[in-house]
Amino acid sequence: MVKLVSASDGNSAARPEETILIALGGNLPSAVGPPEKTLEAALSLFPGEGIALVSKSSWYRSTPVPQSDQPLFVNGVARVACALSPHDLLAALLKIERAFGRERGVANAARTLDLDILAFGARMVRDDALTLPHPRMADRLFVLLPLVEMLPEWRHPTSGRRARDLLSDLRSLGGRDRVETL
Ligand code: AMP
Repeated sequence: MVKLVSASDGNSAARPEETILIALGGNLPSAVGPPEKTLEAALSLFPGEGIALVSKSSWYRSTPVPQSDQPLFVNGVARVACALSPHDLLAALLKIERAFGRERGVANAARTLDLDILAFGARMVRDDALTLPHPRMADRLFVLLPLVEMLPEWRHPTSGRRARDLLSDLRSLGGRDRVETL
């Protein structure tokens, strides 16, 4: 099936049937404590931004990607519901990142909090601010492990592969990333 990118894909409100997935991560302490405390505290701010938490994975500890001598990351995935558009959801997530002292500088630098939209239903968005589905999600063990824990049958909107298929595809490549439950 060919799906054309619609200009409204990033700007129209979520529909109830759309599965909205967010990746959370961090590898520096914030004012509330170590990364796992920051991630929990970030989730507690979701309702104030009009974002309802539907479910979340366990927290995982992972080696930095790309490899570096930065501290290990804590990662997880959350499923949410909202009536926001993808761009408004992104703005809300960036606001929450700032609330925990996230500073933007060099790409892949250590950070207190990173909130990414992995997928917003089947929407295809590609503009200066937002790309959906997240272009690197299928390459990241620290995304796929928590996603498979939560929604193994979820299908990637572009490839049609289930989350558990994406995980076995990635494992078959034999990468060196290490991810384990906290
Ligand atoms: P970073 O926090 O370093 O991963 O980069 C975040 C920036 O990437 C945001 O300011 C967004 O403008 C942009 N971006 C593009 N696509 C996404 C996405 N799917 N989720 C979150 N941020 C995105």
